[in-house]
Amino acid sequence: MVKEDVAELFCILDGADSIGGTKLVIHTDDGDIMIDFGLNYKKKSQYFDEFLSRRSQVGLKDYFTTGLLPRVHNIYREDLLKLSPKCSWEYSLKLSKVVISHAHLDHAGMLPFLRPDVPVLCSVESHAILLSLQETSGGKVENEFIRISKRELQTSKAHRRTVKGAQTSREFSYEDDRILTFSTDHSIPGARMCAVKVQGVWIVYTGDFRFGGLRDAETRQAMRKISSLEGEKVIFVEGTRFNSKKKSKRATERDVLDVLQRYISQYQGKLVVVDCGLRNIDRLSSVFEASGKLNRTPVLMPKTFHLIETLLDFTDETRYRSILNQARVYIRKRNIRKWEKELLERSRTVDENDINKSPGSYVLCFNYYDILELSDMNTTNGGYIYSNTEPFNEEMEIDLNRLRKWVSRLGMTFHGWEEESPLHVSGHLSPNEVLEFLDSVQPVCVIPVHCEEPLEYSKFLQKNGFSVLNPLFPQ
Ligand SMILES: [Zn+2]
Repeated sequence: MVKEDVAELFCILDGADSIGGTKLVIHTDDGDIMIDFGLNYKKKSQYFDEFLSRRSQVGLKDYFTTGLLPRVHNIYREDLLKLSPKCSWEYSLKLSKVVISHAHLDHAGMLPFLRPDVPVLCSVESHAILLSLQETSGGKVENEFIRISKRELQTSKAHRRTVKGAQTSREFSYEDDRILTFSTDHSIPGARMCAVKVQGVWIVYTGDFRFGGLRDAETRQAMRKISSLEGEKVIFVEGTRFNSKKKSKRATERDVLDVLQRYISQYQGKLVVVDCGLRNIDRLSSVFEASGKLNRTPVLMPKTFHLIETLLDFTDETRYRSILNQARVYIRKRNIRKWEKELLERSRTVDENDINKSPGSYVLCFNYYDILELSDMNTTNGGYIYSNTEPFNEEMEIDLNRLRKWVSRLGMTFHGWEEESPLHVSGHLSPNEVLEFLDSVQPVCVIPVHCEEPLEYSKFLQKNGFSVLNPLFPQ
């Protein structure tokens, strides 16, 4: 199939020149398939901030104005469109399915705005993660991944928006006979690649993935299965780590585990915090393993504990069970909602008094948003291990500077990405590993996505012998 014909089979609504915000459409004879419907964080921060947010009273209008949602007819929730002033549509789709590759919000974050009657295909883990996220977050539309509460205008003078109790569940199905999904390794459980056959051509979307993680074998198996698909293959491939100016370190999750253990052991009798992100369960497993070896009890925030419980409800995986058995849940000094109260009642808990009695007996799995809780504890000469991605934009840098300020005020030492030893491995593959993947799969054409430097990335792929189709730079 020639490039011009391939270009007719899909469109990229967003995410061709950004890390995330991914929204791809594949046109098939049975309707259009949306692949991921993510939140474009970069775009959002360009137009909104904490105190400048979408007006719920005008439905989707503010997101259409800013381009955070594409002006596509027939795909959005009717209750929200009724609240939105008339919109001029740029496209119209016949949406038959939505495929969500994984539950990171830059891939799934705009799902709450889509029509609830369109079936969503994703892994059970992604379903569980989105469900837990909804149950532990506020009742805003933005959090309605699974259950939808209809928004309607009241006919009162004030035109007050009310939330009615009509509950609609989305239909989630695990596999579809015309769409293939392949389990792969990423920094969140349940990531999938997918392949859709259209006009005899396999259109493959890699989603986010990596080599060298705890589930490296799954990525390699996905690669083999995709290689063995019969017929021509066109591949949307992620390029998160492509940076024309920077080289990245090579390390595996096992290396991180060893380094974590070494760092934690330096703080005998002192408090240690490991900040490893909310949904990076592989990293959490490493922290738990290191804690176990050093006879420390890992402490989780209620939200993380809820997430693991929900994953266990859906998958019965032993590692989730062992995390729940090993962990204590921290009692926060906050107004707590019903889900949190119930969770604290059914789990083994600790508070700051328990921790202050013996700070060296615990490892706290806290993050940036939990820093105030640390100020109630004896943190002097303790360690704050930031086992997470290094800042890649201005907002993250500002947040991390604030975090470091707190850590130093609390008398702790900060360890992060500047350390010689790896405290983090990326959820994404390196540019050379992208080539290894493409060499194995042998696509007729590559479409780069999820990349901050799409032109440079396209040139890099072309230089290495691949035919590139980049709608941003038509040749
Ligand atoms: Zn991701």
